[in-house]
Amino acid sequence: MEKHKGDYLKFLGTAGARFVVTRQLRASGGLWLSVGGEEIIIDPGPGTLVRCLSSRPKLNPLHLSGIILTHRHIDHSNDVNIMIEAMTNGGRNKKGFLYAPRDAFEPPDPVVQFYARVFLKEIGYLEEGKIIRCAGFKLETPVRHRHPVETYGLRFHLPCGNISLIADTAFFPELIEHYSGSDLLILNVVIFKDHVSDRIYHLNFNQAAELIKNIKPKVAILTHFGMSMLQQKPHLLARSLEEKLGIRVIAATDGFKLPLQNLSTSGSDILVG
Ligand SMILES: [Zn+2]
Ligand SMILES: [Zn+2]
Repeated sequence: MEKHKGDYLKFLGTAGARFVVTRQLRASGGLWLSVGGEEIIIDPGPGTLVRCLSSRPKLNPLHLSGIILTHRHIDHSNDVNIMIEAMTNGGRNKKGFLYAPRDAFEPPDPVVQFYARVFLKEIGYLEEGKIIRCAGFKLETPVRHRHPVETYGLRFHLPCGNISLIADTAFFPELIEHYSGSDLLILNVVIFKDHVSDRIYHLNFNQAAELIKNIKPKVAILTHFGMSMLQQKPHLLARSLEEKLGIRVIAATDGFKLPLQNLSTSGSDILVG
């Protein structure tokens, strides 16, 4: 794996939960990761194709090496079929991978359409403890998350450092050891505060703070915001958490682009592009 100067991560969307997604108060296009000359889209929610093509500079889906779904919920998978079409030039160039939990492919309600599967070169199931090796990166799914459908967070081992995405999950303390050693930690923080009566399978802000405090990444990024997080103004929450913990904390915005080359040195030189 060679260190690549132009590596970056771009947040095509930062919406989480029903109302923020359906009203598009934030976009829901997932993450575009460019690393070692490979392009990957993670969790292509509603509007991903449009967001790629309207990005400046434009992100060309034909250049994608593959697609990853952390789970099958619609805010993470809505555009998976159209992104397969776009990546493979409408199926003319059989190429690319799709990694997703098994239930994204299987009855009773698969989200990956059968006609589109044959356009792909490789289909892989994400499973607990699995390691996937590609030319530009190594990907690990250390633990199954606590969420109503099969869900995994992602750990990328890259030449520039380790990037983890704690995708949708209820809090459980073992998350700390599974994601320890992350240089960059991205957390889906859907809600600000739980109500005792709710049974919510998402991280709230205090739980995200607890994870950041214990995992101690160089940089933490909050994303996938539901309504209660937006009401609290994520950038203010991020700033107060940064002051409290002494760890760089960023609240992602739609289109936020993070260059990855400085990751292994220090969080303080991370530039916002
Ligand atoms: Zn979600
Ligand atoms: Zn979900």
